Amino acid sequence: MAGLPTRTRVIVIGAGVVGLTCAVRLAEAGYDVHVLARDLPLETTSAVAAAVWYPYRALPQDRVTAWSARAYAEFARLAEVEPGAGVRMRTGRELTRAEIPQPWWAEAVPDLRPVSRPPSGYAGGWEFEAPVVDMSVYLPWLVTRLERLGGTLTRHALSALPNAAQVVINCAGLAARRLADDRTLTPVRGQICQVEQIGLSEWWVDDSEPSRPVYVVPRLHDIVVGGTAEEGDWDTRPREETARAILTVAERLVPALAGARVLRHRVGLRPARPSVRLEAEDTGGGRVVVHCYGHGGAGVTMSWGCADDVIALVQERVPA
Ligand SMILES: Cc1cc2nc3c(=O)[nH]c(=O)nc-3n(C[C@H](O)[C@H](O)[C@H](O)COP(=O)(O)OP(=O)(O)OC[C@H]3O[C@@H](n4cnc5c(N)ncnc54)[C@H](O)[C@@H]3O)c2cc1C
Repeated sequence: MAGLPTRTRVIVIGAGVVGLTCAVRLAEAGYDVHVLARDLPLETTSAVAAAVWYPYRALPQDRVTAWSARAYAEFARLAEVEPGAGVRMRTGRELTRAEIPQPWWAEAVPDLRPVSRPPSGYAGGWEFEAPVVDMSVYLPWLVTRLERLGGTLTRHALSALPNAAQVVINCAGLAARRLADDRTLTPVRGQICQVEQIGLSEWWVDDSEPSRPVYVVPRLHDIVVGGTAEEGDWDTRPREETARAILTVAERLVPALAGARVLRHRVGLRPARPSVRLEAEDTGGGRVVVHCYGHGGAGVTMSWGCADDVIALVQERVPA
């Protein structure tokens, strides 16, 4: 008697937003998916993300724009049909100190408008509706979605890329520096404060000072106030002085924040790279490793777009 047809086994390394999104898409495509991760979802850099849809510190511009556009569409869909995913569409503004032409990623946003009356100190900016993702809700929701499709998530720290599966997806974020021996990956340290939700519904970004981006992102139960972007800084401990500076600058931008109770200080290391690595490496004997890491400050923003490309690379080589 013929046995049941076996599905192609895929190991996904990493349970951040990139690994989990790829895992969900692969499971939907019929693969037998197992995620191995040193840190579980709520312990990852992804859990620290603000996380507003905003292409930031990620290259190359053309691919980032395309991935971000696809992810925008998927998040907009989730916001409409899956309220439990923790995704909401919220209007917000990127403010600029000088008048600038449209942002390079403008075509990824359906409706981008110039800010009509910028606050004092600003020359202009862009207003649009963007997905805002509450990662404390969204990452567990992705895990549930994966498990319903038959996939698994296991805590397991790997010392090298595994060869126990025909297909391996490397979504180790900054740790790909060691796992894939990629010295071009560097940390860009981001410190944020989570403050109580005071009824704010719109987000704000001011990226005029590269190492001190200012952003205020209201989520379901709190508001993320940032931040910093410190190149090459590996320190994951929050700094008190930095927190004070973050709150002072943010209150200037959004005065309603004054007096809001601070709930938590957090730090994450953005996995920055001269360009996102999304490519397949054939490792012999019909095995393939698809690398998908180096998303800088936009891993959430690009997640669904990158996952689609990862799945296409796998399907070209190994059927489910
Ligand atoms: C303060 C801050 C604010 C941000 N705001 C935004 C935002 O508003 N919008 C946005 O789009 N992005 C934002 N980002 C960027 C975003 O967080 C990252 O781009 C994203 O988290 C990268 O996701 P990832 O899945 O690649 O990596 P990670 O979330 O770091 O996940 C990596 C996974 O790989 C696992 N791993 C690593 N090594 C091993 C190993 N040896 N064995 C097994 N598993 C391993 C880890 O344990 C983890 O599970 C922000 C980042 C920071 C720090």
